[in-house]
Amino acid sequence: MNVNNIVRKVYPKLTPYKCGLADLPVEEIKAVLMKETVYKLSFNESPLGPSPKVIQAMTDSLYNLNLYPSSAGDSIMKKIAEIEGVSPEQVILSNGADEMIILIAQTFLEPEDEVIIPKLSFIQYLAATNLMGSTPVFSEMKDDLSYDLEDILSRITAKTKAIFLCNPNNPTGAIVPKTELENFLNQIPDPILVVIDEAYHEYAVSPEFESGVRYLNQHKFLFVVRTFSKAHSLAGARLGYGIGAMEVIDAINHVRPPFNANAVVQAGALASLDDIEHLQKAKVLNNQGKEMMYEVFESLGLPYLKSNANFVCFDTKIDSNVIFQKLAEHGVIVRTLKGYGLDTSIRVSVGKHEEVLAFVNSLKEIMTQA
Ligand SMILES: *Cc1c(COP(=O)(O)O)cnc(C)c1O
Repeated sequence: MNVNNIVRKVYPKLTPYKCGLADLPVEEIKAVLMKETVYKLSFNESPLGPSPKVIQAMTDSLYNLNLYPSSAGDSIMKKIAEIEGVSPEQVILSNGADEMIILIAQTFLEPEDEVIIPKLSFIQYLAATNLMGSTPVFSEMKDDLSYDLEDILSRITAKTKAIFLCNPNNPTGAIVPKTELENFLNQIPDPILVVIDEAYHEYAVSPEFESGVRYLNQHKFLFVVRTFSKAHSLAGARLGYGIGAMEVIDAINHVRPPFNANAVVQAGALASLDDIEHLQKAKVLNNQGKEMMYEVFESLGLPYLKSNANFVCFDTKIDSNVIFQKLAEHGVIVRTLKGYGLDTSIRVSVGKHEEVLAFVNSLKEIMTQA
């Protein structure tokens, strides 16, 4: 008997997390490249790290590791509710935003459902859709690689159960302007779940950005996904959350494992939400890094997208694998967008000052040699 005979029917569509050079932990990249210094700019990780107050809170929590955490995470739910102007019953925690996406899928998706996913967006929406055996329906991007909301609307059928949007979008850093978002939500039929992934919302710089949380009254089944992995620097500790209507949260709570948010990260996240200065510092550092990159892309004549996140997407104008390899030789690891069919584009995370410097200097050297 082969294991293939006993796995679920959807199994052929599922893939384990791939591990190319860009996906390895930094110590392993160093070993592969045989380099002592590596600048890993492929994961959109925060270069700042958690604040000292967060480290202290997490350290203190270690003394109580014999105890189970609060199942729902009441203190954080309350804090988030206070910040967002919603009730605590409208908040739910998860083991990273990735788990939140899976919980949504497990709660709502049936095999006969269709799920609309923009072609150029975070890959986990497709993975969660495939996990449930539902049918992904891909929406085309506009020429400037922004979402085509008209195209999304045109793909709605009686079978559509959910629509995923990432705002600001990974990998482009683009946002959906607030008036467009509002108009869009007004046109979505009642029973459709609209999931807006706001993993990068803290970094948004455009005055046209508005969180989906402001539109919860506009559409009954609107659900906003957030994470502590990016601007809050807690990717290694794993905490995500969702905000939505009480009945949506209640439905997901029927599926959520009871202790999915661990005690250490709950303590850290609470401290992080209180440390507004540290978050501000992360944003300033990020904006400075982006400006440095923009300047170099402009001087090299490489098209790029102004970003509302902590990464920038640019066009190398040649096979991106060539540039990827040459950057890797300089110890700089970025991400090609080959998987999306964009053969000449690269996404680079905004690291700390010396990392951005290493990236721009290496790129300048490579492009002037080519
Ligand atoms: C990084 C990322 C996530 C995953 O966040 P975790 O909380 O670390 O699981 C979710 N959505 C998008 C768009 C991301 O870029």
